[in-house]
Amino acid sequence: MKYALVTGGSRGIGRAVSLKLSRMGYKVLINYVHNAAEAKNTLDQVRLEGGDGEILMFDVADRQQVSRALEAWETEHPDEYIEVLVNNAGIRRDHVMALMPEEDWSRVLEITLNGFFHVTQALLPAMQLHKNGRIVNVASVTGLKGMAGQSNYAAAKGGLIAATKSLALEVARKRVTVNAVAPGFIQTDMLEGLDEAELKKAIPLGCLGTPDEVAELVGFLVSPAAAYITGEVVSINGGLYT
Ligand code: NAP
Repeated sequence: MKYALVTGGSRGIGRAVSLKLSRMGYKVLINYVHNAAEAKNTLDQVRLEGGDGEILMFDVADRQQVSRALEAWETEHPDEYIEVLVNNAGIRRDHVMALMPEEDWSRVLEITLNGFFHVTQALLPAMQLHKNGRIVNVASVTGLKGMAGQSNYAAAKGGLIAATKSLALEVARKRVTVNAVAPGFIQTDMLEGLDEAELKKAIPLGCLGTPDEVAELVGFLVSPAAAYITGEVVSINGGLYT
C-alpha cells in the first residue's frame, strides 16, 4: 500500500488533495490541528469513494507533536513509508505591518515554515532510503508577488518557495522531487471576510479557483508523468499574476 500525508487535510484545499490522492491509489493520512469533525468528514468522503486512510492530529508548528505522531505511525507500520507529502497546513493573519501584533507575525511563519521543516525532515530519511518520494508545498501567489497587508504571509510563502528550490537540489539524486504550487484566490474558509465580488474584479478569468482545481495540479506533480519536474513553482491563479 502506498501512503500519502496531507497536512491540513481536514478542510479546503487539503481535503480536495486528500480525495485526489486517494483516487490515485494512496492511503491518505489526514492531518488536522483543531477540527476533528472536519478531518473525520474528509476520511468519510475518502471511504465513500472506496479509498481509505487515517487521521493524524498534530500542530505542524510543534516539533514534539509532529515527532510523536509520526514516530507512532512508523512503529505501527514497520514495513511501510510515506512516499508523498503535501505541506498544505497554513493560516493567514492579515494586518498592515505598522499594526501587526508580534504573535500574528510569528504564528504565520511558525506554521508555514517551521511546519514545513518539522514534517519534511521527519519523512525525508525514508523517502531517500527508498529512492522514491514526492513533496509538494502549498505556497501562494502572495509569496511570488507580495500583497499589502500580508507581509507575514508573504515572508512565509516566499520562504517556502526558496526552501522548495534548495531542498529539491539536495535530494534530487535520491529520486525525491520537491515542488510548490502557488494558488491565487481559492474558494475555501481562508477567504472568509474578504469581498468576493472585489476579488473577482481583479482576476482576469473572472472567478475564484476551486480546491479541486488545485488538487488536480498537486496530483499531477505527484504522478509518474511529473517525474522530471523538481524545484518548480507552479502558479494556479486565473491569470492574477504571470
Ligand atoms: P483552510 O480551509 O483555512 O484550511 C486550513 C487547513 O490547515 C485546515 O485543515 C487546518 O486544520 C490546517 N491547519 C491550520 N493550522 C495548522 C497547524 N498548526 N497544524 C496542522 N494543521 C493546521 O485553508 P485553505 O484555503 O484550504 O488553505 C490551504 C493552504 O493553501 C494554506 O497553506 C494556504 O495558505 C494556501 N493557500 C490558500 C489560498 C486560498 O485562497 N484559499 C490561496 C493561496 C494559498 P483545522 O481544520 O484543524 O483547523
